Amino acid sequence: MTYDVIIIGGGPAGMTAAIFAYKKLNHKNAKILLIEKNKKLGKKLYATGNGKCNLGNTLLDLTCYESNQEFFPYEIIDVHTHKLICDFMDSLSVNITNKEGYLYPSSLQASSVVWAMTDKIKEIGVEVHINEECIKTISDKNVYHVTTDKNTYTSRNLILAPGGASAPKLGGTQKIYSMASQLGLAVYPPYPALCKLKTAADISMLAGVRSKAKATLYVNDNEYLTEQGELQFTENSLSGIMIFNLSCNAGNLMEQGNKLHIVISLLPEQKETEIFEFLIKARESCPTRTIHAILNGLIHEKLAKYIINIQANGSHTENKNIENDKSDNDLKKNNNPCYRTINTFTDMEIENLAHTIKYLKFEVTGCGSFDEAQVTSGGVDTTCINPASCEVYGNNGLFVVGEYLDVTGKCGGYNIMWAIATGMKAGEGVR
Ligand SMILES: Cc1cc2nc3c(=O)[nH]c(=O)nc-3n(C[C@H](O)[C@H](O)[C@H](O)COP(=O)(O)OP(=O)(O)OC[C@H]3O[C@@H](n4cnc5c(N)ncnc54)[C@H](O)[C@@H]3O)c2cc1C
Repeated sequence: MTYDVIIIGGGPAGMTAAIFAYKKLNHKNAKILLIEKNKKLGKKLYATGNGKCNLGNTLLDLTCYESNQEFFPYEIIDVHTHKLICDFMDSLSVNITNKEGYLYPSSLQASSVVWAMTDKIKEIGVEVHINEECIKTISDKNVYHVTTDKNTYTSRNLILAPGGASAPKLGGTQKIYSMASQLGLAVYPPYPALCKLKTAADISMLAGVRSKAKATLYVNDNEYLTEQGELQFTENSLSGIMIFNLSCNAGNLMEQGNKLHIVISLLPEQKETEIFEFLIKARESCPTRTIHAILNGLIHEKLAKYIINIQANGSHTENKNIENDKSDNDLKKNNNPCYRTINTFTDMEIENLAHTIKYLKFEVTGCGSFDEAQVTSGGVDTTCINPASCEVYGNNGLFVVGEYLDVTGKCGGYNIMWAIATGMKAGEGVR
């Protein structure tokens, strides 16, 4: 038997493609096969948005997506896409709520979206093979042969929707890229994205600290991207949504030999001169307080220690005395720079402190692992993809959708929006 459509991957891209392919073929006996290696469809989708499934965003600008073909994502996603997603969800009886541009099912449960999609797939009679892994794909005179760990199938249309390499517990795997190569598609190497970024400096003393901040990523000392939000420190990395957004293309850039660093402004709303003036005033009004106590009036006390340490050592080198200190008495005992009273600081020293609070620099040495990353950057080269249909140019009936493509959205619903939008295009494109 030859299927009309085979779809590899039962995530949001693959499930959407199945539903739209059924609509397009518009007849009850269309033979559509959806193959998923997990035991259930949409396993990753359940985990998205902390279980709430942030499936789109009404805000759009040129920083929302990264790709080696910079403008390709915007040939598919435009200011109307979120409306298409809402209409699609409405057709599945899922009500959408808009929280300052971020779209969620109004139940705030990802299961609403997964169940609605899987129920529709069942209702329209899509043949679903779960627990079955595709291992080989061959193109042969406008039909496609798909070999799984259980069988071989043939189809007139083939939609590749196997996601990325990230989150292996939810289905991510690097094995998927060989399928594209078997079909002659070029692939940009996959890297973990929307993940933490490792620092050269030892920041273990800051582990657990959270702070509102602005972060700017520099590539070879050139400003690349700025994000604002909550910064989180871990043992050896910077984390938090704004760092995830800066990580979108970091793996790729580092692999190409670029030097990356991040500059953090710990008080984004205040000018450096205002911080300087605050400290000068503190020197007059509270002359005998320690610099650590004074800086804690501005920033988290561990960050205060870290910054004083930098000033005292002239580098990010950790002062173990600082890490181990428990009380002011200990600080005094160890002749720790944190214990210096503010009245002993010169104007220039205060200027340096204000500057460091405003421009705290971290060299980036790597990304988090695929285990920790929400998505994968890199993937199938989009130069061979027709954005009108997500079909491979010159290859009738072969479509590539979702995270498998070399397109990475930032946090905020942009990746599911991408998966659904490309799934719609491919489904509408089948013949
Ligand atoms: C913890 C977490 C939270 C996230 N939160 C959000 C969020 O709130 N908003 C947002 O926009 N994005 C979020 N994302 C990203 C988003 O989930 C993905 O970008 C999106 O699911 C990609 O959809 P997809 O259909 O392309 O791929 P996937 O959802 O990864 O689906 C691909 C499917 O293909 C299957 N598969 C792979 N290989 C094979 C094979 N050989 N044979 C058969 N089946 C195969 C996989 O098992 C998988 O089920 C989050 C990701 C994670 C990990």
